[in-house]
Amino acid sequence: MRIAVFPGSFDPFTIGHEDIIRRALPLFDQIIVAIGYNSAKKSMFDYEVRMKWIEEIFADEKKIVAEAYEGLTVDFCVEQKAQYILRGLRSSVDFEFEKAIGQMNQSLQPSLETLVLLCRPEHTHINSTIIRDIILHKGDVSNYVPKVVGDYLKGLY
Ligand code: ADP
Repeated sequence: MRIAVFPGSFDPFTIGHEDIIRRALPLFDQIIVAIGYNSAKKSMFDYEVRMKWIEEIFADEKKIVAEAYEGLTVDFCVEQKAQYILRGLRSSVDFEFEKAIGQMNQSLQPSLETLVLLCRPEHTHINSTIIRDIILHKGDVSNYVPKVVGDYLKGLY
């Protein structure tokens, strides 16, 4: 069984995240979308809300599950018996970060492989940090997030 963990903050979950997961589906038997929980870092959306979005977006896809985790991603992968870490790449800035973290993760846990998929060109500018800023100022982010997330945000305004 080929199991991948797709770790991230997903604060909020975007169509960029969704696209990477869907494109990776043929490669794996299971993809665990893993919401990193950091008690010291305040997120805009509670992890319960993020978890529910992911479960709803992939309700029809049995291979995808949502989990929250605290601590090292490599420890979570071992616990879940995952052999792969899945990540998305938007830019050279992402590349430098993914390279460092991927090499460090492999150094910590040599059996773990990081698999990076290039994002679609039309998703390069979609970034959760910028989207949070737009939400904070009550802008419209419906073009950048799945419908489930867009509907949730409309309910807030
Ligand atoms: P983190 O807090 O680790 O940056 P994110 O939720 O922002 O978590 O991202 C999780 C993964 O999704 C990362 O590999 C990131 O590069 C990727 N990602 C984020 N936005 C996009 C996008 N627009 N297109 C493709 N991949 C993306």
